[in-house]
Amino acid sequence: MDLKDKIQVYEDFPKDGISFKDINSLILNPRAFQYVIDEMTKVAKALDANLVAIPEARGYIFGTPLAYLIGAGLVPVRKPGKLPGEVSSVAYDLEYGSNIVEIQKNAIKPGDRAIVVDDLLATGGTLMATTRLIEKLGGEIAGIITLIELTELGGRDLLKDYFVHSIVTYP
Ligand code: AMP
Repeated sequence: MDLKDKIQVYEDFPKDGISFKDINSLILNPRAFQYVIDEMTKVAKALDANLVAIPEARGYIFGTPLAYLIGAGLVPVRKPGKLPGEVSSVAYDLEYGSNIVEIQKNAIKPGDRAIVVDDLLATGGTLMATTRLIEKLGGEIAGIITLIELTELGGRDLLKDYFVHSIVTYP
Protein backbone atom coordinates (compact mmCIF):
# COMPACT_ATOMS: atom_id res chain seq x y z
CA MET A 1 0.00 0.00 0.00
CA ASP A 2 1.24 3.50 -0.79
CA LEU A 3 1.20 5.18 2.58
CA LYS A 4 2.82 8.43 1.49
CA ASP A 5 -0.30 9.55 -0.32
CA LYS A 6 -2.19 9.09 2.99
CA ILE A 7 0.28 11.24 4.99
CA GLN A 8 -0.37 14.92 4.50
CA VAL A 9 2.74 17.10 4.57
CA TYR A 10 2.63 20.66 5.90
CA GLU A 11 5.62 22.85 5.13
CA ASP A 12 6.89 25.28 7.79
CA PHE A 13 4.83 23.78 10.63
CA PRO A 14 5.13 24.28 13.56
CA LYS A 15 8.17 26.42 12.67
CA ASP A 16 9.85 27.67 9.48
CA GLY A 17 11.96 24.96 7.86
CA ILE A 18 10.06 22.01 9.32
CA SER A 19 8.30 19.74 6.85
CA PHE A 20 5.62 18.32 9.13
CA LYS A 21 4.36 14.80 8.36
CA ASP A 22 0.79 14.62 9.58
CA ILE A 23 -0.23 11.09 10.54
CA ASN A 24 -3.80 12.21 11.30
CA SER A 25 -4.69 11.93 7.62
CA LEU A 26 -3.41 8.32 7.64
CA ILE A 27 -5.22 7.14 10.77
CA LEU A 28 -8.45 8.61 9.40
CA ASN A 29 -8.24 5.95 6.69
CA PRO A 30 -9.23 2.60 8.28
CA ARG A 31 -7.45 0.44 5.69
CA ALA A 32 -4.22 2.40 5.99
CA PHE A 33 -4.36 2.30 9.79
CA GLN A 34 -4.95 -1.48 9.79
CA TYR A 35 -2.13 -1.96 7.29
CA VAL A 36 0.32 -0.04 9.49
CA ILE A 37 -0.64 -1.94 12.64
CA ASP A 38 -0.41 -5.28 10.78
CA GLU A 39 3.05 -4.41 9.45
CA MET A 40 4.26 -3.32 12.89
CA THR A 41 2.83 -6.49 14.44
CA LYS A 42 4.71 -8.77 12.04
CA VAL A 43 7.98 -7.11 13.03
CA ALA A 44 7.15 -6.93 16.75
CA LYS A 45 6.27 -10.63 17.02
CA ALA A 46 9.86 -11.57 16.22
CA LEU A 47 11.30 -9.35 18.96
CA ASP A 48 10.20 -11.38 21.97
CA ALA A 49 9.09 -8.42 24.09
CA ASN A 50 6.82 -8.35 27.13
CA LEU A 51 6.35 -4.56 27.11
CA VAL A 52 5.59 -1.81 24.61
CA ALA A 53 6.75 1.68 25.62
CA ILE A 54 4.75 4.54 24.11
CA PRO A 55 5.94 8.17 24.06
CA GLU A 56 2.99 10.53 24.36
CA ALA A 57 1.02 11.48 22.44
CA ARG A 58 1.41 9.91 19.02
CA GLY A 59 3.24 6.79 20.17
CA TYR A 60 0.01 5.86 21.96
CA ILE A 61 -1.87 5.62 18.68
CA PHE A 62 0.31 2.87 17.23
CA GLY A 63 1.74 1.28 20.36
CA THR A 64 -1.58 0.50 22.02
CA PRO A 65 -3.09 -1.75 19.32
CA LEU A 66 0.34 -3.30 18.80
CA ALA A 67 0.69 -4.22 22.49
CA TYR A 68 -2.80 -5.74 22.43
CA LEU A 69 -1.99 -7.83 19.38
CA ILE A 70 1.34 -9.20 20.65
CA GLY A 71 0.13 -9.66 24.22
CA ALA A 72 2.48 -7.13 25.83
CA GLY A 73 1.98 -4.62 28.65
CA LEU A 74 2.02 -0.87 27.97
CA VAL A 75 4.44 1.62 29.50
CA PRO A 76 3.40 5.25 28.99
CA VAL A 77 6.32 7.64 28.42
CA ARG A 78 5.12 11.08 29.45
CA LYS A 79 5.97 14.74 29.68
CA PRO A 80 7.03 15.93 33.15
CA GLY A 81 4.53 16.17 35.97
CA LYS A 82 1.92 13.79 34.57
CA LEU A 83 2.82 10.55 36.34
CA PRO A 84 2.17 9.86 40.04
CA GLY A 85 4.57 8.06 42.37
CA GLU A 86 8.29 7.69 41.81
CA VAL A 87 9.39 8.57 38.30
CA SER A 88 12.61 8.41 36.32
CA SER A 89 13.40 11.37 33.97
CA VAL A 90 15.68 12.08 31.01
CA ALA A 91 16.07 15.46 29.21
CA TYR A 92 16.82 15.67 25.47
CA ASP A 93 16.78 17.98 22.40
CA LEU A 94 14.12 17.83 19.68
CA GLU A 95 14.15 18.74 15.97
CA TYR A 96 12.34 21.82 17.26
CA GLY A 97 12.78 22.66 20.96
CA SER A 98 13.67 20.46 23.92
CA ASN A 99 11.80 18.11 26.22
CA ILE A 100 11.90 15.85 29.25
CA VAL A 101 10.40 12.37 29.31
CA GLU A 102 9.38 10.37 32.36
CA ILE A 103 8.26 6.87 33.22
CA GLN A 104 7.12 5.40 36.51
CA LYS A 105 9.94 3.51 38.21
CA ASN A 106 7.70 0.56 38.99
CA ALA A 107 6.81 0.14 35.29
CA ILE A 108 10.08 -1.67 34.49
CA LYS A 109 11.57 -4.70 36.22
CA PRO A 110 15.04 -6.11 35.52
CA GLY A 111 14.81 -8.52 32.61
CA ASP A 112 11.81 -6.83 30.99
CA ARG A 113 12.12 -6.53 27.21
CA ALA A 114 10.46 -3.47 25.70
CA ILE A 115 9.67 -2.41 22.15
CA VAL A 116 9.51 1.37 21.85
CA VAL A 117 6.85 2.50 19.37
CA ASP A 118 6.41 6.03 18.03
CA ASP A 119 4.90 7.79 15.04
CA LEU A 120 8.08 9.28 13.66
CA LEU A 121 11.85 9.01 13.96
CA ALA A 122 13.39 12.46 13.35
CA THR A 123 16.58 13.23 15.31
CA GLY A 124 15.96 10.17 17.47
CA GLY A 125 16.11 12.27 20.64
CA THR A 126 12.77 11.10 21.99
CA LEU A 127 13.47 7.46 21.29
CA MET A 128 17.01 7.66 22.69
CA ALA A 129 15.73 9.29 25.90
CA THR A 130 13.11 6.56 26.16
CA THR A 131 15.63 3.75 25.72
CA ARG A 132 17.82 5.34 28.42
CA LEU A 133 14.90 5.50 30.83
CA ILE A 134 14.09 1.84 30.30
CA GLU A 135 17.72 0.72 30.59
CA LYS A 136 18.28 2.86 33.70
CA LEU A 137 15.55 0.83 35.39
CA GLY A 138 17.07 -2.51 34.35
CA GLY A 139 14.97 -3.22 31.26
CA GLU A 140 16.26 -4.26 27.83
CA ILE A 141 15.35 -2.73 24.49
CA ALA A 142 13.95 -5.42 22.18
CA GLY A 143 13.65 -2.93 19.33
CA ILE A 144 12.23 0.35 18.09
CA ILE A 145 9.37 0.59 15.61
CA THR A 146 8.14 3.81 13.99
CA LEU A 147 5.70 4.54 11.21
CA ILE A 148 7.85 7.28 9.61
CA GLU A 149 11.62 7.83 9.47
CA LEU A 150 13.21 11.10 8.32
CA THR A 151 16.49 9.61 7.14
CA GLU A 152 18.52 12.81 6.72
CA LEU A 153 18.15 13.73 10.39
CA GLY A 154 20.34 10.81 11.39
CA GLY A 155 18.12 9.30 14.07
CA ARG A 156 19.12 5.80 13.00
CA ASP A 157 22.81 6.61 13.67
CA LEU A 158 21.98 7.89 17.14
CA LEU A 159 20.07 4.65 17.78
CA LYS A 160 22.74 2.42 16.19
CA ASP A 161 22.89 0.08 19.18
CA TYR A 162 19.27 -0.95 18.62
CA PHE A 163 17.14 -2.76 16.07
CA VAL A 164 15.16 0.03 14.35
CA HIS A 165 12.30 -0.62 11.93
CA SER A 166 10.30 2.06 10.12
CA ILE A 167 7.48 1.56 7.63
CA VAL A 168 7.83 4.73 5.49
CA THR A 169 10.96 6.81 4.89
CA TYR A 170 11.41 10.40 3.74
CA PRO A 171 14.74 12.09 3.07
P1 AMP B 1 12.72 13.25 17.44
O1 AMP B 1 12.91 13.17 18.91
O2 AMP B 1 13.48 14.40 16.84
O3 AMP B 1 13.04 11.96 16.72
O4 AMP B 1 11.18 13.59 17.17
C1 AMP B 1 10.27 13.52 18.21
C2 AMP B 1 8.82 13.58 17.80
O5 AMP B 1 8.54 14.86 17.24
C3 AMP B 1 8.39 12.57 16.75
O6 AMP B 1 8.00 11.35 17.34
C4 AMP B 1 7.20 13.28 16.14
O7 AMP B 1 6.02 13.07 16.90
C5 AMP B 1 7.59 14.74 16.22
N1 AMP B 1 8.21 15.22 14.97
C6 AMP B 1 9.51 15.59 14.81
N2 AMP B 1 9.72 16.00 13.56
C7 AMP B 1 8.56 15.88 12.90
C8 AMP B 1 8.12 16.13 11.56
N3 AMP B 1 8.98 16.60 10.63
N4 AMP B 1 6.83 15.87 11.24
C9 AMP B 1 5.97 15.39 12.18
N5 AMP B 1 6.31 15.15 13.46
C10 AMP B 1 7.58 15.38 13.82
